[in-house]
Amino acid sequence: MLTIKELLFLTTDFFKDKGVENAKLDAELLLSHGLGLRSRLDLYLQYDRPLEEVQLAKIRPLVRRRAKGEPVQYIEGIANFMGVEFRVDQRVLIPRPETEELVEKVEAFQEGREVDRIIDLGTGSGVLALSLARIYQTSDVVAVDVSSEALEVARGNAKEQDLEERVTFLKSNWFGDVSGKFDLVVSNPPYLTRSEWEGASAHIKDWEPEIALVSGGDSGEDCLFSIIEGALDALRPGGILALETGISQRELLNNKASLVGYSEFWTATDLSGRDRFFFARA
Ligand code: GLN
Repeated sequence: MLTIKELLFLTTDFFKDKGVENAKLDAELLLSHGLGLRSRLDLYLQYDRPLEEVQLAKIRPLVRRRAKGEPVQYIEGIANFMGVEFRVDQRVLIPRPETEELVEKVEAFQEGREVDRIIDLGTGSGVLALSLARIYQTSDVVAVDVSSEALEVARGNAKEQDLEERVTFLKSNWFGDVSGKFDLVVSNPPYLTRSEWEGASAHIKDWEPEIALVSGGDSGEDCLFSIIEGALDALRPGGILALETGISQRELLNNKASLVGYSEFWTATDLSGRDRFFFARA
């Protein structure tokens, strides 16, 4: 009988052979998931435990999926965002750490200001909408997506997190069917050009929804521009627009914001020092 230790070694080697990027980590994650353990560290507490055939039968298909390139989050059906588990599948983008930074930045400069109404455009799995609903505990949040499938995922996450009553879901193409005014408009919209998408690595391109990542415009600016245009009207005076963007769109976005008529706008970098966020005040 194989022990956990042996299976961990075999799986790690198998993943390395198949070119899986974080072979050891992913082996740990999938084995602990398949065994129903709370954390991958539990594997090491039960290192010499022999595994039964029923357990191996649960793990094998997970390992096979990862070897074919599917991201761990889709295989497990779960992604962690700001310490909270969100259900994800191929209907939505897997949330990224940069998007957590967006939430932290918003929180930092909103301190003390009342935030009653929030809108998240292109909510996907709902990470921005639901995290902000948790931070601003008396706010009403509108979560918008053009994809009904994504809205189903986001709704499920709201239900699991007991946030259903504070979050309204709306199918809309950016501000198209949105009404009312907001203190905060947030979005992590698609901002890659088609050629950037074509050059993206297979673990993104073969698995994540293109609609969540690719935007029109020579520099992938179309979606960002639609949001910048619509937000000025949708924001209450003094309200904030907070966007995640591509790393070389700063000038385009500044020009657009000044053309549209914002009183103030600025960009911010992510932890790796790259331009990644755009903010404007109405
Ligand atoms: N808002 C979601 C996220 O940040 C989805 C973004 C998207 O699909 N472009 O992960």
